[in-house]
Amino acid sequence: MQSDKLYPWLCDFHVHVGERIGGYKLRDDFAALDSMAKKHGIAVIGAFVTEEAGLSLTDKYRRMQDDASKHFSGHVHWHLTPITASVDEVYPLVEEGCDLKFYTTYKQAGLYSSYERIGRWMQDLSGFKPRILVHCEDNAIVEESSARHPFNTPFDHTLRRPEQAEVLAVERVLDLAVKHAYPVHIVHVSAPQAALLIKEAKTANPDITCETAPHYLIYNEDRLKGDNAHRWLCSPPFRSEQSRGPLVELLQDGVFDILASDHCAFTKEDKDRFRDRPEQVPCGIPGLESLFNSIYRKLVLKGAISLERLVDLCCLRPAGLMRTVARPEWTLNQLLGKEMDYE
Ligand SMILES: [Zn+2]
Repeated sequence: MQSDKLYPWLCDFHVHVGERIGGYKLRDDFAALDSMAKKHGIAVIGAFVTEEAGLSLTDKYRRMQDDASKHFSGHVHWHLTPITASVDEVYPLVEEGCDLKFYTTYKQAGLYSSYERIGRWMQDLSGFKPRILVHCEDNAIVEESSARHPFNTPFDHTLRRPEQAEVLAVERVLDLAVKHAYPVHIVHVSAPQAALLIKEAKTANPDITCETAPHYLIYNEDRLKGDNAHRWLCSPPFRSEQSRGPLVELLQDGVFDILASDHCAFTKEDKDRFRDRPEQVPCGIPGLESLFNSIYRKLVLKGAISLERLVDLCCLRPAGLMRTVARPEWTLNQLLGKEMDYE
């Protein structure tokens, strides 16, 4: 029997917790994270610190560090998003081990960075080269598609943020990563064509890494039709079945370095408040608790990938990216949290 075999801690590289996003407070603070993490064998997370008005990036980072140290018993690796912070302010923080996160979209929310700005950061940090994470959706394509497709129903989200936006942004960011020989991590890849570009760019720059999230491997855009579809709004949106299938094949081919949840939970009240006005629904879905379980049930048990591969994608390799070690401590049953439940 294999039931006594011990598996390593889960390490989730992409978790939104303890911040406000788009004017909404996230559902989970570090205390909530702690109880979820204990229940599901998650010992290391990558959390985000986004600079906000009236507070310097450093001050917000220190505040969140303090909060995490008081309430979360696991280890946190920090991803910082500078908005107005200078290179001089950021340098000591990256020397502490933080990496950076930029967005090629979300102009209204003040998060947008042009490709030129991202390239400048790579140049300015060339002496140290902390990893840069990038949310890739080309803002011009998103704006143009959004103008053509009014947001009447949750499904319109798929037309307003098409795969082409992701593919173009990934292409531009990979060009920068190769040009500057810079370690870049592309977050939540959902378009197979984008994944193929990453696969190719890795041959020119082996420090390029990427992740996909379980929801892009499990669900397709049909989830954005019907009752409570607004609760599943996240960006990038779920893709067509013609894309979901190849994305699983690319996972099997080893294109993705890690699986990460992009856990970004809001309360049901906040998700439901504007259910008839999808543009105002906060964008993001939970996933931390089901990161391992969902892929185990949908892909490992069906023979699409091995259990060892899943452990590599959710434990060993993300631990490496966060410069820590995932020690074997849990039985398989302990690792199996609950299935995605957000009906
Ligand atoms: Zn995210």
